Amino acid sequence: MFRGMRGRLVLKTGALLLVLFLLTVSIVAFFFRKSVIESSEETALTIAELVRDALTSYMVLGVIDKRDLLLQEIEKTHGLEYIRIVRGPAVSRQFGEGMRKEEAIDPLEKEVLKTGKLKNLLIEDKKRVIYRLVMPYKATSTGRINCLQCHKVREGEVLGAVSLAVDLTEKRNEALFMLGLYTATAGSVFVLLFVVIVRYFEPYRRLFKDMKRVLNRFKEGNFRERVETKLSDEAGELAQVLNKVGQQLNAILTNIREKVSMLIGYNVMETENALKDTEKIVEELVKISHFKRTIEQDIKKADIYERIETILADYMSLDKFSIYEIDERRNAMQVITVHGESMWCSNIILEDANECRAKRTGEDVDSQEFPCICPRFAHNELCSTHGIQYYCIPVNIGGKVGSVVQIVYEKDMDIFVRMLIPYIKGYLQEASPVLESKSLMELLQQQSYIDQLTGLYNRRFLEEIADKLSAQVKRRGTSLGILMIDIDYFKQVNDKYGHDVGDRVLKEIAQVVKSNVREADYVIRFGGEEILVLLVDIREGTAEKVAEKIRRAVEGKVIEVSGGVLKKTVSIGVSEFPKDCEGKFWQCIKFADVALYRAKEEGRNRVVRFEPDMWSGEEY
Ligand code: GH3
Ligand code: MG
Ligand code: MG
Repeated sequence: MFRGMRGRLVLKTGALLLVLFLLTVSIVAFFFRKSVIESSEETALTIAELVRDALTSYMVLGVIDKRDLLLQEIEKTHGLEYIRIVRGPAVSRQFGEGMRKEEAIDPLEKEVLKTGKLKNLLIEDKKRVIYRLVMPYKATSTGRINCLQCHKVREGEVLGAVSLAVDLTEKRNEALFMLGLYTATAGSVFVLLFVVIVRYFEPYRRLFKDMKRVLNRFKEGNFRERVETKLSDEAGELAQVLNKVGQQLNAILTNIREKVSMLIGYNVMETENALKDTEKIVEELVKISHFKRTIEQDIKKADIYERIETILADYMSLDKFSIYEIDERRNAMQVITVHGESMWCSNIILEDANECRAKRTGEDVDSQEFPCICPRFAHNELCSTHGIQYYCIPVNIGGKVGSVVQIVYEKDMDIFVRMLIPYIKGYLQEASPVLESKSLMELLQQQSYIDQLTGLYNRRFLEEIADKLSAQVKRRGTSLGILMIDIDYFKQVNDKYGHDVGDRVLKEIAQVVKSNVREADYVIRFGGEEILVLLVDIREGTAEKVAEKIRRAVEGKVIEVSGGVLKKTVSIGVSEFPKDCEGKFWQCIKFADVALYRAKEEGRNRVVRFEPDMWSGEEY
């Protein structure tokens, strides 16, 4: 009941006012009583002294036997309960017991007679209040009257006492009535005071409560709440300062977020906690800028993709996603990475990039927005039955969709993934220009490896890949077929038809060779009209078969020249790496060349497999 600020205020003010009230009532009661008693004491003392002096005069005048009249008169005049004279033992001995018998003397009177000291007593009960005074009357020889002349007593001995009682009941009742009146008045005043105090503090209490609420919101990072008060004093000013601080913080934080959003080009999700949001966005900005600086220094596109992969997998804890790159030339998609059980899209996209919805439209593909929208998602039945969702983000590289990042997630991860999407986009946006420049660089580099006339790789390319390729083959434990091809009597073409026709013939034969090997094989213009083919991952013995296929294809190729047609043949020397040359790549190339010479020697237009006895020289 008395919890909270209001409860405590009521309790404390109430208790304080009650104590004050009781205190004043007690003090007033005490003084009422004191004044009643004191005034009675004074009156009683005066009467007692008067009676004592009057008795002395009665004695001197010898009319002491008339004292009753005096006492009755005084009793009546002053409204006394009684007044009487008691004789001390010495006087009783000399003059007899007098008006009051020895046994009629009460203990208080006896005590006064004995001690000679004035005594008073207040006898209170519910019905009555009686004030009693007993005043001793002592013998003296030094005053106007010498007591010792008549009394056989010693100086200062008690002769008797005046004993009287005053009834204070009426006065007490009057005082009680007054006290009641006072209590009622004071009580009303205190109740009024209590109400006024509690009312006065009410707006302050409300203000504090409101300030507490607003400050708690501040603590939670929400600076939009404000304090409302009508108070215009210091407390009101305090509320205004608090509101101003909130307003400023809110404006600053919103400004920071807006500027950062502008800088990174996308909005991040906002929560109730502006402080945390700002912290997160700045943190993210730092990370993204760090990411950008790092990828700028990467050499290959593959390194950048690897970093994006690390961010998605490690930093964002995504376990199912893939990255595809679009091969513009072939209009196909290449898998850069796949996280999760298997490829998330059907293989069609690897052949035709336009089958990928994100690539085709250049827009995000969101299976939440349009349930299971993409028919090329390989697990659409999981999408419709088990709520497996996907979100594909096309990455714009040089004005076209250059790659696609696909996030796959369970439905219950929805909120988490949706929160991540802006950040993922932030990273991809930073990566985009860097990927573009790396792509161009790679293209440039590729072109420097391409022979301009035939479109085949050149010898520089062979030198570049030789080590890597031979290491790969050894690691995989497979074989590399090496075909050294030379056009037979090529010089004659030049001589007969001219160099231009020679060039065209060379180009067409290069195409015949290329179309008779697999995509993954390397076709290299080794020298003038010599073509080297590296057949990747072949079974032993198949190299010769491929060579034979090429030989026959060239043989069958009809090349049109001005004024007729032309047919050419090729001779092919075959070796196998690493078997033929104990893993020495360049030696195997040499051995293919040796076999080629043997083919020429044996009459041309044929395939010759290298045999160890063909090589008599030292190690290459
Ligand atoms: P074979 O190989 O059968 O022994 O006789 P060949 O006539 O082909 O003799 P060789 O290989 O020694 O001669 C190659 C000729 O190819 C020499 C050169 O004029 C010609 N040649 C080399 N590169 C080119 C080229 O790029 N264009 C043209 N038109 N001719 C080239
Ligand atoms: Mg030749
Ligand atoms: Mg030649």
